[in-house]
Amino acid sequence: MITNRVDQQEAIEQECFLCILDPQPCSVKKLEGYIIDAREVRSEGEMVPFITINVGTELAALTLTRYYRSLIQALVDLGPDLHKRKLKLRVYHLPPAIRTTENKGRLVHHYRANAYTLAILEPDTVLNITDLSHAEYCSRQYLLHRLVSSPPSAAAIRGNLVHHSFKELLKEHGGSRPVSDHADGEGESSLSTLQRHFKQALERSSIDLALANASPDELRIDAVPHLESLATWFQKQHATLWDMPAATMHGQDTEVDEQKNENGVRAETFLLAPEIGLRGRLDLFWKQTGRQRLLELKTGGAKGDLPNAAHRWQVQGYHALLAVRRDSKMKKALATLLYSGTPGEAQSFGILPTVKQLQRVNENRNILVLSHVTGIPPAPPGPSRCTKCAMLEQCAQVSALLDWRPPEPDSHVSSGEVDANFRGHNALRPTAQGTRKGHPYHTTDGLLRSMVGVPLAGTLGGGDDTDHQSNGLHLPIVQPQDRLFFTKYYKLLHLE
Ligand code: SF4
Repeated sequence: MITNRVDQQEAIEQECFLCILDPQPCSVKKLEGYIIDAREVRSEGEMVPFITINVGTELAALTLTRYYRSLIQALVDLGPDLHKRKLKLRVYHLPPAIRTTENKGRLVHHYRANAYTLAILEPDTVLNITDLSHAEYCSRQYLLHRLVSSPPSAAAIRGNLVHHSFKELLKEHGGSRPVSDHADGEGESSLSTLQRHFKQALERSSIDLALANASPDELRIDAVPHLESLATWFQKQHATLWDMPAATMHGQDTEVDEQKNENGVRAETFLLAPEIGLRGRLDLFWKQTGRQRLLELKTGGAKGDLPNAAHRWQVQGYHALLAVRRDSKMKKALATLLYSGTPGEAQSFGILPTVKQLQRVNENRNILVLSHVTGIPPAPPGPSRCTKCAMLEQCAQVSALLDWRPPEPDSHVSSGEVDANFRGHNALRPTAQGTRKGHPYHTTDGLLRSMVGVPLAGTLGGGDDTDHQSNGLHLPIVQPQDRLFFTKYYKLLHLE
């Protein structure tokens, strides 16, 4: 019996997860080696990414698809000694070599990637899917988020409590269990269930509330429309959502070998895909006969065009994790992105997986991983983004301290307009009073202290004699000892 299970496991491991998606089976399932050269070359009239890796005694020269142009550009920007950096590249799902040549006595196998070929930079660096969605606006925000912590806010606590209540609702009313639309003694309504769990969770959150200086009453009032919208949505969707036997589990990590456990429903499901250097935690994950399904609940960000781009990214990241773990007998996963902040009824969007999106998730990850392992920030994306960026002032301050290329907001935008943008994005910016509700980082000095927990040697932030303006930004005048200190801190963080 045990032998059988081992055999099955080996068979699964030997299967190429991309062959399940690609109608053409691959010839080379996996190649791995250190990058020795990266450039763009002209091929059949267009510039294409071209990378050479050392795979031991031989070399592999790979012509990649357009999804790797940004990676190649970033590698070229590292300078001529790329081979000394020992950057690892793992490539999955290659067609057969198109030719073999010789270079200084070593065989060089040439491959041309197809649309399904995935090249993973530094696969042992496993990023969280939320890292990708945080960096959707600008990949430099990944490094900034590592430097600027996010303390609990009233909105975040409210979001957690609504999440918790919704998951409890699904656990109680999931599967074949009946759901009532009233609370007349014949069964609890969806809204009553949500409210009951919200109340209980709120009572357990007193410490978090105190730390965030948030009032329970305000939080309760803020949550009412979210709970009502979710209850209405659930009431309407229940019949189609749960067309399977109930088997609800909660809070257990899973590898999706749970596929043997048919029709299991899980909240807070952790998925790990070291093959592609990604991990993530799904709000809700379950299986229906022959198909996986996930649901991601958003309690904020329901303004503007929905679904929000960063949220779509997040779900595509989960699709990427599921693609690696997918049983060949399973259909593609269904994903639902659900917004509780839309008035009256929560709004849901189906997000389908495509190979193009899988490649884009990987492209984004590769760029973040490169800045993670080198500590070098990506270049600013230009005025159109920097001007509206929620992290503009923090980016400017950190750039000044660490000698990064500064952000590039539009020089024609006045200081007042930049300030308005910050307010619009709930950005954190220095204030003379040093107070701003919901954000403990009231001053530049506060932000930077939070990075290291010690006072600054120099005088940063706030006062007229300690900062200057550039493109409408308040930039600190950095003392040499501050720069030295933070550079050292950043290096230590980077080593960690
Ligand atoms: S200010 Fe510009 S460079 Fe900095 S994080 Fe924002 S968009 Fe990126």
